[in-house]
Amino acid sequence: MIVESGGREMTAEFVGGRLCLDFANTVHAFGVEESGDDLPDVSAWIAWTRRVGAIAASEARQLESSASKQAHAADAALACAKSVRAAVYGMFSSIAAGRAARADDLATLNASVAETMAHARVTPKGDGFVWAWEDSGGRLDALLWPIVRSAADLLASPDLARVRECAGETCSWLFVDTSKNQSRRWCDMKVCGNRSKVARFHRRRKRAN
Ligand SMILES: [Zn+2]
Repeated sequence: MIVESGGREMTAEFVGGRLCLDFANTVHAFGVEESGDDLPDVSAWIAWTRRVGAIAASEARQLESSASKQAHAADAALACAKSVRAAVYGMFSSIAAGRAARADDLATLNASVAETMAHARVTPKGDGFVWAWEDSGGRLDALLWPIVRSAADLLASPDLARVRECAGETCSWLFVDTSKNQSRRWCDMKVCGNRSKVARFHRRRKRAN
């Protein structure tokens, strides 16, 4: 069963505050050469989804085994996930910079929303109901469902105004700024914040010499 997103704790790897942003952040620097990709292959994609807490260990094992039997379909699912990832990054990066989202990014995302919502269900919980997903049956594209839902939810939420892109020179990570005075500039102060401070320090020293 794919677990719903939301209410996750931030860690060093998952600084986005939303599943869709953490997914975009699996590329360290979009548009920059030699940017690292945390999802080089299907196994890495399954492992990442497990680490982010969207699937249980048993489902990860089931997906690994079905992916190895249908390598071609698994690679196609990953390629599709990466095109959605680029669209998600493109949209939120534009919005964070105060620009309109590109029409082609929105079209890519909306095609994925339509496909994803066909698998959405409501299921009883306690006295009421919650959003859920149909059983994935070992389908790899199911890994994308909660990510697409998370992107649609964030786009339609007031938190959209709090989406930021890291100010690090070679970093494109996105996050929701939940700081009280909305002054967070870095994906992670310890990583990009320090790196930028060090670079400024060296530039000042150079000028002083
Ligand atoms: Zn950063």
